[in-house]
Amino acid sequence: MPIIPKNERKRPGRKPRRIYKDYEKDYHSQFWRNFSKKYRQDHRHCAICQAEDDLVIDHSIPTRIGGAMYDIRNMAVLCRPCHSKKTGDEMKDIYMNSKKNEDGELIPVKKPYTSRGQP
Ligand SMILES: [Zn+2]
Repeated sequence: MPIIPKNERKRPGRKPRRIYKDYEKDYHSQFWRNFSKKYRQDHRHCAICQAEDDLVIDHSIPTRIGGAMYDIRNMAVLCRPCHSKKTGDEMKDIYMNSKKNEDGELIPVKKPYTSRGQP
């Protein structure tokens, strides 16, 4: 058998570790798991359709755009179907109100706000 140099050997069966984005990290913490479990025990129905199964916590302002992770004022319990619908609508909103710049990146159709003193 040929000898493979050490730095070229692959470790079989080992998936590369997923790198989480900052806003995702919290969702994998033990603290969030416990918090989320307790919160769902206190709120047993989907806020939209009243379903009792497959509940998740929805952040009204998504954490990926800076919504508060652990503030219950930013939380609602939704079932998974309602949650994906809501998230989909949010994305649709974002896409409908955005256009692509010269580099193919998304920018808002309207300038979000104008500073005072600027034209
Ligand atoms: Zn629902």
